[in-house]
Amino acid sequence: MMIIDVRKLNAQKKYTGSMEFEYSAPQELIEIPFVKFASPIKVRFDYELYEDDSLEIRGTISYRLEGQCSRCLKDATKEVEGEIDAYFQPFKNGEDYSYSGGVIDLTQAINEAVMASMPFTLSCGDDCQGISFSSETDN
Ligand SMILES: [Zn+2]
Repeated sequence: MMIIDVRKLNAQKKYTGSMEFEYSAPQELIEIPFVKFASPIKVRFDYELYEDDSLEIRGTISYRLEGQCSRCLKDATKEVEGEIDAYFQPFKNGEDYSYSGGVIDLTQAINEAVMASMPFTLSCGDDCQGISFSSETDN
């Protein structure tokens, strides 16, 4: 579930709490060639709903990437963890996320957290030899 129903939280007086869910992120979030998500994004966070209906979430995202090592092209995987820290307001205000209709859609905030956590390359390991060319080089 990628939404938070603020009206429901208010009705149930659940002003703080935690949520956890999985999200199948679009592969377009990955800019590393030949790499894709091997798992859904695990999202866990604590939330706090304030009197003015603004809501803050703080937590973590984690996922696994799989594909080809950016240096040697061998199969490689990587577990990635990132942070999510977002503030939603029921009106438009500067840099914060805004929402309307009493329901917060988390998709954009999670996608941005995923992009912020994304490594620039995928590596098969610390002992990656890179591509070994059979031809001799001048240097
Ligand atoms: Zn490698």
